[in-house]
Amino acid sequence: MEEHQLKPLPGQKWIIVAMAVMFCVIVTFLAITRPASTGFGGDGQVSYVAETGSRPFHKPHCDFAQNIPAALREKFQTRDAAVRSGYRACHICRP
Ligand SMILES: [Zn+2]
Repeated sequence: MEEHQLKPLPGQKWIIVAMAVMFCVIVTFLAITRPASTGFGGDGQVSYVAETGSRPFHKPHCDFAQNIPAALREKFQTRDAAVRSGYRACHICRP
């Protein structure tokens, strides 16, 4: 029986604890940073929305944006893209 080989050395214990702590820190870091990088919740990368036709474009959280039917909803990642498509900025949410 070589029982002494089954017991981890004090140094090895600390490495295991350190790795566990590091893992928790990394998981927590990813959980905190991931939602922040997606911008507005729900619409992913979309920053501006407009109703198809010659109407103002809005920020996703604007009341007018919420009322646009999904079938007519046009999405833009940038303000420039919306302006180039012929849309005007909403006077209420000021995108
Ligand atoms: Zn608006």
